Order: sequence, then C-alpha cells, then structure tokens
Amino acid sequence: MTQDKHITWHDSVVTKLERQQRHQHKSAIIWFTGLSGSGKSTISVALEKALFDRGIHTYRLDGDNIRHGLNQNLGFSPEDRKENIRRIGEVSKLMVDAGVLTVTAFISPYTSDRENVRAIVEDKEFIEVYTRCSLEACEQRDPKGLYQKARKGEIPEFTGISAPYEAPKNPEIIIDTEFNSVETSVSQIINYLEQHHYI
Ligand code: ADP
Repeated sequence: MTQDKHITWHDSVVTKLERQQRHQHKSAIIWFTGLSGSGKSTISVALEKALFDRGIHTYRLDGDNIRHGLNQNLGFSPEDRKENIRRIGEVSKLMVDAGVLTVTAFISPYTSDRENVRAIVEDKEFIEVYTRCSLEACEQRDPKGLYQKARKGEIPEFTGISAPYEAPKNPEIIIDTEFNSVETSVSQIINYLEQHHYI
C-alpha cells in the first residue's frame, strides 16, 4: 500500500452533527449480512423505500451493483472479498459523514471484515442486521440460479457451498427471513431505529 506523506486531511466546516440536525435523523450504516438468497437485497430495497417515504435521507449500496462499478476489478477469493468489504466500508463511512442513513446489502461472510467496518465508524453507527435463513431454504429459493450452478461446480468459492459463511455472533438485529414476511422484517428494523432514536 502506498501512503503519500504529502497528503493532509482537510476538515470541512460543516460537521456530521450539523448535517444530522438538518436532516432531523441520525446517520449510520445498516449493514445486512447473510447467505446468498437470504433476502438482503429484497428487504434492503423495501427498507430503503419505507425510510425514503418517511422523508429520511437514505441510500442503499448493493453487492452486485457495486461489483459492476467501483469493485469491478475484484473477484471472490478471500483477499478480494476482504478488499470488497473494505471499500464498501469506506464508502459507507463517507455517506454516514454526509448525514445519510446508509443501507448495505453484501454477503460479507467473514466476521473480521465486518468488524473492521464497525471499527472505522463511531459507536452506534454500525447496525449489523443478520438475515437468518437456512442454507436449504436459500437453495430452494435460488432466485438467481446460483446455487444450482455452484452445486455443478460452475461457480467456485460460492458462499455456503464451497466457501465459508461466518454468522454474526452478536448482531444488533436478527431477521428470520425463513419464517417472517418481508413486511414484518422491515417493520422490525424500523422499530429498532425508532427505539434507539435513529429516526
Ligand atoms: P440476497 O440479496 O440475500 O442474495 P435476494 O433478496 O436477492 O437475497 O433473494 C431472496 C429471495 O427470496 C427473493 O427471491 C425473495 O423474493 C425471496 N423470499 C421469499 N420469502 C422471503 C422473505 N420472507 N424475506 C426475504 N426474501 C424472501
């Protein structure tokens, strides 16, 4: 990694707190993690819409979308997954600084990578949401046909099949997408945000 000694940090005169006060809500990262097909995209899309409809400044970063652009040079090896999540974390941190309630939907299978993101933002700015769903149910849903391909060996290093998934041990929120509807999951997250005075 190159660290230029001649680069200096410039503070803005507008602070994060002032942005939050203007927006009349806090900013944070709502970080979805879970197996492919567990419902991260579906629920995060619905959550973003529900928040937006309430007048909240919100933006969603989605795994596949980011891999089309910012992270198009990264694959799925452990090193590339780590770098993928590091970049998402840094982008999310900037969005939190901009006063945005940021929603991210990435498998993010490694605990250490998620904890690294938690560590770069302030206390309470990282809300980990575990979309819990058994591998069997995810595989049955298989919305993009990826499990079928992974089982045939057509996709190497596929989370849950040929690459590990480390479930969060102590997430802020667990949503059981196997047994609860999308609406119930969204309500559960909104309730959390209200109870903890984010919104
Ligand atoms: P991920 O982003 O985690 O890979 P997706 O949201 O792309 O998952 O896919 C989840 C699939 O499961 C979608 O086709 C969705 O319609 C379906 N599904 C069925 N029941 C639920 C539920 N209760 N919560 C979330 N998704 C569900």
